Amino acid sequence: MTSLIERYRDRLSLEPGDPVVSLEEGSTPLIEASRLSERLGVRAYLKFEGGNPTGSFKDRGMTVAVSRAMGRGAEAVICASTGNTAASAAAYAARAGLRGAVIVPEGKIAIGKLAQALMHGARVIALQGNFDDALTIVRELAQKHPVELVNSVNPHRIEGQKTAAFEVVEELGEAPGALAIPVGNAGNVTAYWRGFQEVGTAPILYGFQAEGAAPLVEGHPVANPETVASAIRIGNPARWEEAMTAFTGSRGRVAAVSDDQILDAYRWLAANEGVFCEPASAASVAGLLAHGLPVAEDTAPPESVVCVLTGHGLKDPDTALGKAPAVVNCDNDLSAVERAVFD
Ligand SMILES: *Cc1c(COP(=O)(O)O)cnc(C)c1O
Repeated sequence: MTSLIERYRDRLSLEPGDPVVSLEEGSTPLIEASRLSERLGVRAYLKFEGGNPTGSFKDRGMTVAVSRAMGRGAEAVICASTGNTAASAAAYAARAGLRGAVIVPEGKIAIGKLAQALMHGARVIALQGNFDDALTIVRELAQKHPVELVNSVNPHRIEGQKTAAFEVVEELGEAPGALAIPVGNAGNVTAYWRGFQEVGTAPILYGFQAEGAAPLVEGHPVANPETVASAIRIGNPARWEEAMTAFTGSRGRVAAVSDDQILDAYRWLAANEGVFCEPASAASVAGLLAHGLPVAEDTAPPESVVCVLTGHGLKDPDTALGKAPAVVNCDNDLSAVERAVFD
């Protein structure tokens, strides 16, 4: 294994003297999904970004952003986060020996992500507001104080994240016909589009937002975004324009999925493909199941699609256990176990 920066340094935004702060991120599995392929009528793959060191794609951007921050002599990093950016920033800050502070919406982040940020030694601040409020505040803080803002408004985050598109093309030997992706702050879809374009490809991009947090679909910011998929509970995406450029340029589109559709896809993937992602990640699959793979009039239907599964299911055990079947209690006795297993 090597770091993402070692693999792609000549295509990233680092300066020659920047150190490499890495946890050997990237090189995540691209899993062919035969049951999903059957349901969609097209060859489907899962890009499992839960395989990154802190369990989400945020690590791809964070290795570059924190390496650059070190190169610039920063002493601390700060971010607003729905959870995964906080976990990743905290881990890379710890790795680099920098101080880290993360601002999260109070009571709104998945428990695994909170555990990560705290274990890595970041100062975790629970804001009585939503993600959009937190982002506004950290942007101002970063202008007033010598701290590096590592949200996806940081250009180095997008640079690092575009490497996922490189990996997909390398592994398939060509670009997929289409790529489906959950959209929150819209940094990741921006990054994939840049990555695909840099290697001279242009798959159709299908972006999916949760119904209660779908500003790009509705065409205006959403004041109080609500969805079970906490990682995409964002009402005013920072990369709005770039995301729309990606959808238009790729002849794709952005659409909404309900929380029920998200949770159905989330459970179905775990039970039928053996892949446990977090609820927000399942929006990519839910969207294809709900809307199919529509194409512009003069465009051929895609023959393959990659669904980006942005984060690991273990991040959010509360949602997993919330509607899971009950555990079977059993006496310490062979025949009781026999009945419990086989009846
Ligand atoms: C951050 C995140 C998203 C949304 O990505 P954006 O770049 O904000 O659009 C989706 N899923 C998971 C698991 C995330 O952590």
